[in-house]
Amino acid sequence: MGHVTLVGAGPGDPGLLTVKGRQAIAEADVVVYDRLVGPEILALMPNRAEQIDVGKRSSHHPVPQWRINEILLEKAREGKRVVRLKGGDCFLFGRGGEELELLEENGIPFDVVPGVTSALSVPAYAGIPVTHRDFTSSVHIITGHAKKNGELHIDFDALVRHGGTLVFLMSVTSTPHILNGLMQAGMPPELPAAMVERGTLPRQRKLVATVGTLAQRMREEGIKSPAILIVGAVCALSDRFDWYDALPLHGVTVAVTRPRQRAGTLTGRLRALGADVISYPCIETQDIWPNLPVVEALASLEQYSWLVLTSPAGVDTLARLLEAADMDARSLAHLKLAVIGAGTAKKLRERGLRADYIPDGYDSIQLAEGLIRLVREGERVLLLRAEIGSPELPARLAEACIPFDDIAIYRTIYRNERSEELAEQLARGAIDYVTFTSASTVRGFVQSLPAGAALTGCTALCIGACTEQAAREAGMRTITAANATIDAMIDTLLEHAGNK
Ligand code: SAH
Repeated sequence: MGHVTLVGAGPGDPGLLTVKGRQAIAEADVVVYDRLVGPEILALMPNRAEQIDVGKRSSHHPVPQWRINEILLEKAREGKRVVRLKGGDCFLFGRGGEELELLEENGIPFDVVPGVTSALSVPAYAGIPVTHRDFTSSVHIITGHAKKNGELHIDFDALVRHGGTLVFLMSVTSTPHILNGLMQAGMPPELPAAMVERGTLPRQRKLVATVGTLAQRMREEGIKSPAILIVGAVCALSDRFDWYDALPLHGVTVAVTRPRQRAGTLTGRLRALGADVISYPCIETQDIWPNLPVVEALASLEQYSWLVLTSPAGVDTLARLLEAADMDARSLAHLKLAVIGAGTAKKLRERGLRADYIPDGYDSIQLAEGLIRLVREGERVLLLRAEIGSPELPARLAEACIPFDDIAIYRTIYRNERSEELAEQLARGAIDYVTFTSASTVRGFVQSLPAGAALTGCTALCIGACTEQAAREAGMRTITAANATIDAMIDTLLEHAGNK
């Protein structure tokens, strides 16, 4: 027998998904999701999971509710672990109750993971506490969705009499009627009111006005769904508590090109600073296998004194190669390890190995220069790298008469399914920065895009000199981190964005 978990995905900011919700998604066989669930949360679905988009758009429903209920039942009867993923909280105007009825009638086990509702979190991201002892002691959450005949079923007199903060969901089209209804029931037109569009998301927009003026302001600004309407004296606090719009990278769009597995910290840090981050991994690495040269090299490691690894991917591939050869890190005990980049060194440490040499700069020229200084007479170097690694490293070692073997252990593939969309955004000037953590990501980025994509409108944020050069050659403006770390990249970006 299967099982259904209703999960509230939160209002948009992926950080507002609950720990329990995240876990349920990771364990799901089938995920049935709505339109308001963002791409970062959908990316948490395991690859094996079946994904069913039942996204509802207002005024036309691609999948009717009765059919959604049936899908949940059918999948659970197949013995699947089903996650029903919904925007915000699953029960607050989420029809979660209707979905449970059919399951309960059929004896399907289910549970519920409540979500952070937009009704409370969107005001919070707009600097509006929904209650405050000095202003109000209650909050009312109301749907602004009209019945088929356009009629609103709202008891305006009761709402005005209570004097609590009013939060209206699904109210973009009905806001003028709601505000009129409130004024007719005696609400003073000068009472503060606010509209927040795409709350908790990097493109959040808010309008703070009054009950009398908000409808006009909304029309001028062209506010669209999803948005919520908040009415009450607490809206006046919005400017003082405006923490989200005040984040240093608010309004800045950054495309992150790191491979998905390693984008974590950079993406998270940028988001925390308020940036609109577009995840655009365009490089995938693939082990080269079968690989006779590396099998031979691993079988005769005693001939080498140095092992050079130039990327975190190389460390991972090496670990798999050792495993395949029935070996482990102890076979490397006699080798001195030279790496490029703090990330590569960190990957090694995770495997219980310390790098003996890491050049300050993030590039192979500096690595070559360091090796030329350090490698002694009679010592041989093993380079385990990407198929199209920088030619500088072997060239300089050869020039310095250092014996070495250069073996390709992985290759990079350049692609991203959303390249057309990104090219269109670049052409519109909608992307301010693109981050690059290696020269090969620059090449990957350019190759993944359709030919002739507009690269002159964005600024490349580069981790080091080689990367910078590659970005310049591709026609981009560049800014470059002071040293090869994510921290330094972020400092450089903050400084540059702050001066603009
Ligand atoms: N169950 C959801 C609400 C579903 S109704 C929850 O608990 O949040 C859909 C309405 O929610 C939208 O019309 C809009 O009014 C509101 N909403 C959802 N996400 C929003 C967001 N990020 N910003 C503003 N309003 C949002």
